[in-house]
Amino acid sequence: MDFLITYGSHTGQSESIAAQLKEKCMLLGMNPRVHVLEENEKTFFIENEPLAVIIVSSTGDGDPPENAARFLRRISRRTLADDFLKNVTYALLGLGDSNYSTYQGVPRKFDEQLTKLGAKKLIPTGEADDEIGLELVVEPWIEQLLKKLCELDHIPISRLEGLTISTPLVKKEKEKKSVAEKPKLPTVMSTEDDRADSSTDRILKLAPYTYPGEISLIRGNEALSSDEALRVPIAPLTYLVTSVTHEKFEPKSVNWQNGESMPGLQGKPMDATVVGTTLLTDFDVHKPKRELVIDLNAHWDQLSYSPGDAFYFLQPNPEAEVNFILERMGLLMMADQKCHVTVAGDAKKPNAAVPGYIPPISSLRYIFTHCLDIRRAPGRPVLRVFADATSDEGEKRRLLELCSSQGMAEFTAHIRQAAVSIVDVLAAFPGVRPAPERLIEQLPRLIPRPYSVSNCYERARGRIRFVYSEMKFGVADGRRYERLGLATEWLNALRVGDQIQVMMKEPARFRFPVPPATVEAGLKMPLLMIGPGTGVSTFISFLDLLLHEKIKIGSLPAVPRKLFFGCRNFEKDFIYKDLLESYVREGILDELIACESQPAKPVPGRHCYVQEALRQRADEVWDFIQLEESRIFICGDAKAMSKDTWECFAKIVAEKKGCSDAEAKAFLLELKKANRYIEDVWA
Ligand code: NAP
Repeated sequence: MDFLITYGSHTGQSESIAAQLKEKCMLLGMNPRVHVLEENEKTFFIENEPLAVIIVSSTGDGDPPENAARFLRRISRRTLADDFLKNVTYALLGLGDSNYSTYQGVPRKFDEQLTKLGAKKLIPTGEADDEIGLELVVEPWIEQLLKKLCELDHIPISRLEGLTISTPLVKKEKEKKSVAEKPKLPTVMSTEDDRADSSTDRILKLAPYTYPGEISLIRGNEALSSDEALRVPIAPLTYLVTSVTHEKFEPKSVNWQNGESMPGLQGKPMDATVVGTTLLTDFDVHKPKRELVIDLNAHWDQLSYSPGDAFYFLQPNPEAEVNFILERMGLLMMADQKCHVTVAGDAKKPNAAVPGYIPPISSLRYIFTHCLDIRRAPGRPVLRVFADATSDEGEKRRLLELCSSQGMAEFTAHIRQAAVSIVDVLAAFPGVRPAPERLIEQLPRLIPRPYSVSNCYERARGRIRFVYSEMKFGVADGRRYERLGLATEWLNALRVGDQIQVMMKEPARFRFPVPPATVEAGLKMPLLMIGPGTGVSTFISFLDLLLHEKIKIGSLPAVPRKLFFGCRNFEKDFIYKDLLESYVREGILDELIACESQPAKPVPGRHCYVQEALRQRADEVWDFIQLEESRIFICGDAKAMSKDTWECFAKIVAEKKGCSDAEAKAFLLELKKANRYIEDVWA
């Protein structure tokens, strides 16, 4: 059966699901075509597709991915007849992150428009949430879709069983015992670096971790571990081969990740020099905050950025973790030799190709350090590969449980929510010895991490400032070594004089002045900025630009400019206090409203969270919203702060307009559309 699978992808997730789906369909004997949504009216015409599977996500801003925007505009045209899509049957999968208030906004818009134009649904729409794990919805949705497709194509449903295997329950007691005993064994993660220039600082200690007696990464619940018919996906098709030569590899001989482009990043990697690192808070606060200043050297003349823009840091994986994986594969000794990655001559995977971000010739150390994400909790296909890579029957059984349909809840709890890394899993299953090509095929691409610029271009003179917060993850829940976030761990280790690489992030709508306004127009915009914690760093770039303009032209138009900041304790983590107060003295800000959530002693009248301060000034906030050209900017945490602030504004609007909560939110959505309520929130 010939049909269309089409996707709109910002980070590559929809694209990869589309490719996986195509692979499964082909194994069943179907022949789908896969095209990106922007190929509509070029390679395909949606109105002429009797059957279309659509996979689409929303960006954090609630916009469609760039490669889906034209399609959405096309099906939203008012001039289209009500039966424009009467011949189309579709199945829709939406991807999103419920941390964002715009969760599933784009897929729902797709659904609404497709139905409105007469298209019929093949199966109910799937809404997958990255916050709890996309696979929780994606996999059952694909299963349901494949069943329906088999029915339509008269393929016996029994063929679907070829995509899963049932594992018999052999040597159950022995198996359980074998896994339960093993993880207590290793206490040192990587004993000795085998390379000639080895040094003891590469040794990574692995905290002894005793799994609790109850259900854990290595021990399933009774029902799961006694299930005699686990439904386990067949192992992903292998299609790559690696071969290591005797020649030494020179890392400078390749472009970062083979020069492969990445959505959201623009230009090429730029060399930069670290010229400053400062701890901005007390060191013993819950999340210490640090400043990093880099010099962009000669690249400075070729680029410009606006306040609100961000740069990506091309952070490598930690050396000790890379060594651990290489050692486990038995390849540490040859990790620095040239390694060729090619497609296997007998590859059965349709359209098999070496991923574009893997250089055809590099070294295993290069690939595992710079190209593959080894920190992200492994997906079920990786566990499936691990299950085939151990000779220990007990380990195999447990790994299969974790990737079985029945083990979905345990996978979510002990892999996904526990945020275990590849190293944690390998340490928990010491018999697993994966082949490098299996990991290259299955591990996701290592994505650089973005940080907002915290000073303005005109005043930076090539020296750009960033601020970041440390996130610590302790030894617990199956994590076997303490760690900071991947980028922060690397940023913390940087010293003045170090050379690093950065890339520019594609500008988003969170910019000052708000596009297409000129700087001159921006000066006249009333601003209400809300940025607790490091969220304030972006606003410092706004204020730095205003200061620059004030110095240039003598004075600024008198419009309200207020900043709401929040921290736990004024004495310990009020970052940039002096600088922010100087903006008030300079008349750049007319008010700085600081909130303290965990003061040593409560101070009467002092607000705890920014929302409290906003609520107390409800009249002022409402007057502000009505000012011509006024802009509300919110920057910071997406999980709680941005949602609570949204609710807070909704309450203020409902009260002042005398309307319902839903009407108040519709009003705020209009402000959002008009770029007057603009968020830069990070999950
Ligand atoms: P933080 O130190 O964790 O928190 C700052 C303050 O916000 C604390 O007083 C905290 O109070 C309070 N807070 C907690 N929940 C809140 C809520 N629901 N509403 C209002 N205030 C709340 O902040 P952070 O670690 O700096 O986090 C800032 C966020 O900004 C991160 O998500 C980061 O990714 C993002 N961001 C960073 C950059 C950058 O370039 N580095 C740029 C843009 C955004 P309690 O802890 O006492 O509850």
